[in-house]
Amino acid sequence: IWKNGQFDGFIGIRINVFTFLTGMLGDGDGRGFLLHAKANGHQVFSEIGDMDLAGPSKTFVMNLDADNDGWEFTVYPTREVLALFQSPLPYIVAISGLLIALLFYVTMSSRIKAKTNAKLLRKAIRRRQEVESKLEHMAKHDALTHLPNRSYLNIYLENKIKECELKGRKIAVLFLNIDEFKSVNEIYDHGLADEVLKIIPQRINDALKGSAMIAHLGGDEFVICLSENLIEQKLFIYAEDVLKSIRTPIIIGHETIRITASMGVSYYPQHGQTASELVTRAEQAVNQAKSLGKDVYTIFDESLESTSVQKAAMLQAFNKGLDEQQFEMFFQPRHDIKTGAMVGAEALLRWNQGGNYLSPDAFLDLAEESGMIVSICNSAFDMAFAQYHHLFSGNPPIMLAINVSAKQLAHPDFLNDLFAMMDTHEFPSEMLEVELTEQTLIQNYESSLATLNALHSAGVKIALDDFGTGYSSLSYLKNFPVDVLKIDKSFIKDIHKNKGELELAKAIIAMGKSLKMEVVAEGVENQKQLSILEKEGCQQAQGFYLNKPLPFSQFDQLFNKKGRHSDGYN
Ligand code: C2E
Ligand code: CA
Ligand code: CA
Repeated sequence: IWKNGQFDGFIGIRINVFTFLTGMLGDGDGRGFLLHAKANGHQVFSEIGDMDLAGPSKTFVMNLDADNDGWEFTVYPTREVLALFQSPLPYIVAISGLLIALLFYVTMSSRIKAKTNAKLLRKAIRRRQEVESKLEHMAKHDALTHLPNRSYLNIYLENKIKECELKGRKIAVLFLNIDEFKSVNEIYDHGLADEVLKIIPQRINDALKGSAMIAHLGGDEFVICLSENLIEQKLFIYAEDVLKSIRTPIIIGHETIRITASMGVSYYPQHGQTASELVTRAEQAVNQAKSLGKDVYTIFDESLESTSVQKAAMLQAFNKGLDEQQFEMFFQPRHDIKTGAMVGAEALLRWNQGGNYLSPDAFLDLAEESGMIVSICNSAFDMAFAQYHHLFSGNPPIMLAINVSAKQLAHPDFLNDLFAMMDTHEFPSEMLEVELTEQTLIQNYESSLATLNALHSAGVKIALDDFGTGYSSLSYLKNFPVDVLKIDKSFIKDIHKNKGELELAKAIIAMGKSLKMEVVAEGVENQKQLSILEKEGCQQAQGFYLNKPLPFSQFDQLFNKKGRHSDGYN
């Protein structure tokens, strides 16, 4: 049956030979002879019954075995017919011949038709099976990577669990999440990000020598199942190999993409008895790995089960930190490359936990997520303005650069709070520079633009931070009032080793200069880099080679020793 142009089922026809032949031949007596038919030795039709026949010598038998189904017809003339003709045999032969030719034709044509129909039917069934297996594949596999998806993974794991339960074996479920995959999507086009997602499982497969089942849960999430009898030390090797394989730069066309991944591990039977329990636990473990700084793996730990408990503890710690003024700034000097003079400093947030200074990477994400970033930074900014006020007394001022995140910029009190702090500490607005990344600006384009314009008209300078790692779109540079371009440290790292990197840095410097911006190189770690930057006309530099971020007391000493008219570095 064809429905909407599609084959849907088939028709079977059953022919009753007896009825068929009786209908075709009509009455035997009127006809003058009787028919007896066999197929494969079995009687399929007979008009003879217990009738008195003319005897075997008067019969005519024909084997119709052309089609291998052993049809045999015997024609018996009736006694009346035999009596009518003296020599009836030729007539009988002629009539029988005709009859048999007819039967032969009927049989053969129906066989041929049946064969053709069967062929069509087989083709349609094959096509239907193909479609069905394709649909089944789609339901169980990811459309992009063609790897097993979550529902297949569940079936697979449930089966493995049954198997391992019998044999007393372990299973390890490794939940892999690419770190910052969002930025790969933002920086490159989606086609390239998709390519990266296809390459990752190949890398994992190579690292594990094809011995594991890899599922793609969608997005940047993969699950690896290892089912051999694991000993923990072996898992350590597997996990490290997988993370290493992802760390290796991915080259697609002219692009070199560097990514890392975090991994969470759960074991059967310790951490769960069902597939979904194991996957959930491994996912919780990957979140632990992320909070530990990414590019690492963590084995699920019951005591850290609830990340919300962890978060609540962290929020409590933030509040205590704010009460006790534990958030303060370190200051990393910025130098004029030509003269070596210190022309400013970037304030970098530190969490002073009893003399142990925690870097922003360890807590900034949670501070952002919880909104605590606003009070934390306000507290540290306030302290920095006060410290700078002290620094300026008797010295000509230098620039103070502060970092502002998206949450801070979007806060309705941002401008009021900032101007109020500057007023309190009599901080000249032309000495303040606000560093923002392109990602921050794009998050709330309209309001960002309005806030930046307000800052700019008050004399505050705007710096585009980490330039080159975001959208690097010229439209931002044109539409926002940007005064300073800070080249991200990843572009400076290899300028003395790699011609391509140098060309890139040169292009950014030239572009910044042509847009009348001050160009600052971040992350300068050696003299070679500094000399190249000077030669290429980059105006300012910041980095460990010149000065590390310093606590205020050391920064104060350095500033008073060298002052802004320093004739050399450090
Ligand atoms: P950033 O704005 O790009 O800051 C520069 C980072 O590079 C600092 O890391 C600094 O210590 C580091 N650095 C400086 N010179 C070198 C060098 O020569 N080599 C290398 N490898 N690194 C160098 P830090 O202090 O850990 O800050 C990390 C990020 O945290 C900052 O990146 C910034 O985005 C954010 N941050 C810091 N302070 C604040 C703040 O007060 N508010 C906000 N919203 N974010 C902040
Ligand atoms: Ca910065
Ligand atoms: Ca930066």
